Amino acid sequence: MPSVNAVSVRMLSLKEKDRPIVRKLLCAGCCVRCVLRFCCVGTSSAYRRSSQDLHKELLAFISEENSPESHDASGEEKTSDTPPNKRMRTDEDSVTAAQTDSDICPVCLGVLQDFCDPTFATQVSDAVKKQQYEFDSLVLTVSLPAQMSVREHSCWLHVKKEVREKSMCLGREDVIQVKDAFKWAVQGKIGQELGAAVVANSPCEVSVGFIHPETQEDCHFLANACPDCFKPTKNKASIFTRMAVVKALEKISEEKFSRHYPCPPKKANTRCTALDTTCLHTSVFIAGRYNKFSRELPQTPWVIDGERRMDGSVEELIAAPLLSSFRADGFNFSSSGREDVDVRTLGNGRPFAVELLNPHRTKFSRTEIKQLQETINQSSDKIRVRDLQIVTRDATSRMKEGEEEKTKTYSALIWTEKAIDSPDLEFLANIKDLRIAQKTPLRVLHRRPLAVRQRLIHSMSTIYLDKHHFTLKLCTQAGTYIKEFVHGDFGRTKPNLCDLMKTDADILELDVESVDIDWPPAIPD
Ligand SMILES: [Zn+2]
Repeated sequence: MPSVNAVSVRMLSLKEKDRPIVRKLLCAGCCVRCVLRFCCVGTSSAYRRSSQDLHKELLAFISEENSPESHDASGEEKTSDTPPNKRMRTDEDSVTAAQTDSDICPVCLGVLQDFCDPTFATQVSDAVKKQQYEFDSLVLTVSLPAQMSVREHSCWLHVKKEVREKSMCLGREDVIQVKDAFKWAVQGKIGQELGAAVVANSPCEVSVGFIHPETQEDCHFLANACPDCFKPTKNKASIFTRMAVVKALEKISEEKFSRHYPCPPKKANTRCTALDTTCLHTSVFIAGRYNKFSRELPQTPWVIDGERRMDGSVEELIAAPLLSSFRADGFNFSSSGREDVDVRTLGNGRPFAVELLNPHRTKFSRTEIKQLQETINQSSDKIRVRDLQIVTRDATSRMKEGEEEKTKTYSALIWTEKAIDSPDLEFLANIKDLRIAQKTPLRVLHRRPLAVRQRLIHSMSTIYLDKHHFTLKLCTQAGTYIKEFVHGDFGRTKPNLCDLMKTDADILELDVESVDIDWPPAIPD
């Protein structure tokens, strides 16, 4: 039977060369997981074991130093049953005395101690459960106080000195990061409690953060040592961001660092404080096409000087049922162009996309999406939605792609001052690809820059109604201002329908008949 010590030491995969490092770090008051980190133990399961267990084993490991069979602890199994304390020398006694359960590790400031206990994992899972997300995977992110990097650097220099004396080599990048060690210790338990896989990439992010006010000033000497790393930033409360601190630590010489900061780092009296656990799900995108049947419904809420001018809007009617079903925090609405309040959108409708922010539920079957479309359609007779579907963020860009080159067809009710007969309209059908120049219309000049835009009226056709009225059907390049093409906008659109017909004319009603964009894909009923 192999002894307990030999088996567990092999589990930690510690080597002979690690022995002085283990001793040195334990003496400095480092926690057992920090010891494993600096010995480059990359086995995640090691970090899940209890601190007490690990502590016992590390003590046993360093006590084996003079035993003849243990030149390589990962080699032959040991058979000696001598209790470790019998073989301890005086400095190991001091190691044992230096480490009690209540000691706070000067490097991780407690993050790899009590916070690696299952109770903390449960606390995190409970906070997530309360927010009622539906997910089957999550990514755990950890934010640590910036000064922890200073302490990590100090400890690294401390270890490096030992390594150098023994003429061994140890790569900084082989040292396991606090974040990774913490995740290895807790994420299995968190995943288990939430019934979700904890993975490297997931749309659902659970964030755990720590702060340590007591040691906040640890980084301040860096501002004098490397002033160019700490430029004041507009939005950040402190210049000592983690990024800036890490950059400064890369720059500063070992000698300069040691002059300003103790190696190993000094003990702390308090452990880190955990911030509230937060959850964030990446946006979900829903696309479709809408019809608007009302001449009193704006596309987006119409607010002038902070006052709402009209009840409801296309985007609110569409988004309300989506928000409640996806349990999202908010939305962004976009569409392929837009119509004025008094313009209807008929035909197959106008493509739109809704970005749902931080949705708590994201899995919907085709049938459920269809029901959702039904709910939207039954909520109002002013709009109607079709082809509702979940799409990717990338796909939504197809809606805006080549928007200007697309064609749109319109139907307009026209009034003419001069009395007309049906033959007076015939010449309009013969005009093809009429090039017009439009100065930014007066009615939108308050929100758009003044410019002259060239647009094409591809074709027109007419339906005679009476002496002063007819219906004008137009097929135009997207982005053409139709109302201005009809009445001329005080000569700002040239040529215009008044010029062509040699009479004053106005537009009484306008409908969008089609928006020729083949996205999103049609969904058969
Ligand atoms: Zn530690």
